[in-house]
Amino acid sequence: MVGTVFPEFDPRSLDVGWSTVRNVLNHGGQTTLFRKKLTIKKVYETLSRVAAALGPGSRKLKEQLIEGLLTSADSDETDILVRIIFGEMRIGASEGVMLEAIAEAGDAPLGVVRRALMMTGDLGKVAEVALSQGEEGLTKIRASLFVPLKPMLANMAEDAAEAIEVHSGETAFEHKYDGARIQIHRRDGETRIFSRRLSDVTDSVPEVVELVEQSVGGGDVIIEGEVVAVGANDRPLPFQDLMRRFTRVKNVDEMVELVPLRLHLFDVLYLDGELLIDEPYRRRWEILESIAPGELLAKRIVTSSPEEAERFLKEALTMGHEGLMVKRLDSPYTPGSRGKAWFKIKEAETLDVVVAAADWGSGRRRSWLSNYHLAVWDEDKPMVIGKTFKGLTDEQFRWMTERLQSLKVSESSYTVHVRPMLVVEVAFNEIQRSPHYESGYALRFARVKRIREDKGAMEADTLQGVEELYEKQFRYKDRVDL
Ligand code: AMP
Repeated sequence: MVGTVFPEFDPRSLDVGWSTVRNVLNHGGQTTLFRKKLTIKKVYETLSRVAAALGPGSRKLKEQLIEGLLTSADSDETDILVRIIFGEMRIGASEGVMLEAIAEAGDAPLGVVRRALMMTGDLGKVAEVALSQGEEGLTKIRASLFVPLKPMLANMAEDAAEAIEVHSGETAFEHKYDGARIQIHRRDGETRIFSRRLSDVTDSVPEVVELVEQSVGGGDVIIEGEVVAVGANDRPLPFQDLMRRFTRVKNVDEMVELVPLRLHLFDVLYLDGELLIDEPYRRRWEILESIAPGELLAKRIVTSSPEEAERFLKEALTMGHEGLMVKRLDSPYTPGSRGKAWFKIKEAETLDVVVAAADWGSGRRRSWLSNYHLAVWDEDKPMVIGKTFKGLTDEQFRWMTERLQSLKVSESSYTVHVRPMLVVEVAFNEIQRSPHYESGYALRFARVKRIREDKGAMEADTLQGVEELYEKQFRYKDRVDL
């Protein structure tokens, strides 16, 4: 959840290439008959030497050291070592188990252990304190700022009504800004800024630091928000321009002028000694409001009305933002996890697809072909990317049933395969990779918006177009590394 097993060894400090590791694994790793047993101390010491190796000859030395480690490792250990070397051995995977073990060993409640880890981000330290000082020692651990918490994540909702239903009524909607997420830590007047990937980007965004120093009240804090690049008329700039800001290390001042940033704060996780992640979002927002000026806060409404929320969504989209976030009022902040407390609602995109087949409905729709297999063209081959039975009126179902039967090629028990002639426009919220379809992609929340009799079959979209849309989605997602 917080940090890595050996936080001091990130891939950059170790600086070991994948080819080195691969060579060792291919030639001799795990094959030694008389392995020396690896100990944590030995791994730690060796990695320290790898990280310390600098200058001429250091590459060779690093390779030898890594080789030494990997040849002493059994297959489980190799797996762990490789993940440590490439920075993927986050505590997240086994954190729950580790925490329980520490709680038991230190005879302390699990909640207290978890909190201590949140504070320090250092599992080793938490274990040490738990064993030597027990619960009392753990409760005394102060937050160590400048150790970023993993960001809480959101699931996709189809629309406002769905989110309201899952949140059992009144809930908060915030503009979803099309930018980069940052976590701002301030301790004793010093401010540091971390990206979504938890790297320190303070030096690339001096004006954000200044803004926080001047405008955000309270003493020591951890707050979260989104920075957006804005153009001359104060509207969001394309994401690429923002990325230029984050990757820039030289001439930052020039970039500050060229690509100004706007900050939208949406959460507070820590304030003056109090970790707030277990507080309900409702209270965190109140605290945020009390320390940050209104113009720095994400635009937000609280409502149980889907119509009001949809209007708010339209407003967000017209202003050039990405959609809305929906946040359950009584939800804690759960670092690194993607649950139903936070939803995102984005503008639906549309594709023109051909109907390649249709399933007979059940229940009320028994006599209709009502579940449509939607396809796009790969050259002249229709490739299915999803199915839907949503969006049509009874009248339209009847029409589709007749039309598709006239295009029938073959029929199995539930499914009528048709000549791919009929074009429908479908709206969807997201494209996912899918092993399920030969196309490799699947639409999420697809629904028919219009039957496009005006369009010829070959005017439907292509698989290449779908691939491009898929890639575009990553502008906003994990793959973007700041
Ligand atoms: P996604 O990356 O599509 O899963 O959407 C979640 C991301 O939206 C977050 O990680 C933030 O970077 C961004 N975001 C923009 N506005 C907000 C907001 N008001 N609250 C939370 N996240 C936001």
